[in-house]
Amino acid sequence: MDLFEYQARDLFEKHGVPVLKALVAETPEQAEAAAEQLGGGTVVVKSQVKIGGRGKAGGVKLAKNPQEAKARAEEILGLDIKGHITRKVMIAQGADIAEEYYFSVLLDRSNRTYLAMASKEGGMEIEQLAEERPEALAKVPVSALTGIDEAKAAEIAEAAGFDAETAAKVAPVLQSLWTVFAEEDATLVEVNPLVKTGDGEIIALDGKVSLDENAEFRQPGHAELHDIDATDPLELKAKELDLNYVKLDGEVGIIGNGAGLVMSTLDVVAYAGEGHGGVKPANFLDIGGGASAEVMANGLSVILSDSQVKSVFVNVFGGITACDAVANGIVKALEILGDEATKPLVVRLDGNNVEEGRRILQDAAHPLVTLTETMDGGADKAAELAAAN
Ligand code: GDP
Ligand code: MN
Repeated sequence: MDLFEYQARDLFEKHGVPVLKALVAETPEQAEAAAEQLGGGTVVVKSQVKIGGRGKAGGVKLAKNPQEAKARAEEILGLDIKGHITRKVMIAQGADIAEEYYFSVLLDRSNRTYLAMASKEGGMEIEQLAEERPEALAKVPVSALTGIDEAKAAEIAEAAGFDAETAAKVAPVLQSLWTVFAEEDATLVEVNPLVKTGDGEIIALDGKVSLDENAEFRQPGHAELHDIDATDPLELKAKELDLNYVKLDGEVGIIGNGAGLVMSTLDVVAYAGEGHGGVKPANFLDIGGGASAEVMANGLSVILSDSQVKSVFVNVFGGITACDAVANGIVKALEILGDEATKPLVVRLDGNNVEEGRRILQDAAHPLVTLTETMDGGADKAAELAAAN
């Protein structure tokens, strides 16, 4: 999960990284009041969108007083930056910038370690620097066991080529940024620019943080960092129900067990759909190994509340949870849903105890359910029903 700059700033502050005072505003009037609250002097009005290059796109502007802050906020609110509409601005105290540096620490998957990157030449786009003058960007592996301790911070500062005096000031900030990375379960912490002010102070002026959502069970504070406005309402509902669901743009709802099976189901449905007017899969939904009636009902409920869905294809391979248990799950789920179940359901079962599973569904004889023998046959039937509805 990527954070907004103001959320990253808050985490920096929490862990002792030097930042400037800042407030968030959603209207020009709030921006003016915020600038007033920050002392009435020079502030920077910054678009809050989860994309880089805001400065170049006109999303970062100086304002000398609260009236100017209001005017700049008026310009920036609503601004489209590479497809991201600005809904909030951050009003930050102005900084007297003498030098701009770059620092980041991230999970380096290919090398199975963490990696710190630092440069004396921050501010500009770091991808460009890495390409044009790779020698100006220091890369230092960081062990998960020791992190960025005093020695590692000194090593990074030296690799980046800071003079001794600056290195001594930058190093403790790098240690604090590591604390943010480790204690918040981040996969990326980036500061661009990390600045030295006229007074020689080091300040993190712009922060980008990505948090590892797999760690949310031990990060209770992270739930409120989710951007509810930007989340699809069906995905939100699925998340509340603990389902592995991704909304797609088609008409055939998909339920399967195991990510691999569900992904190949998406493929065969898309392929079958070409023969039925181009209908496509409406979602990815992996109900996992259990496939209890409740999970099946939850999954069906999410899929059926997608108004684009015209038919549903349930494709399950019975393993440890045998087909009869899955079949009972489907029957009970349809009971639980009652009138909520309105769209045709194509079911393909195979694997452990498949005969019994099919018998249960045949005996139940639910008017919405069609049983098929094969995955291709099921995909074709579901696509045909979606095209006809
Ligand atoms: P980005 O373009 O999305 O990375 O946004 P940044 O927050 O990095 O801002 C872009 C540039 O605006 C920075 O590199 C700075 O040069 C400048 N800037 C940002 N905040 C301040 C500030 O408080 N004072 C001054 N003078 N310049 C700032
Ligand atoms: Mn930046």
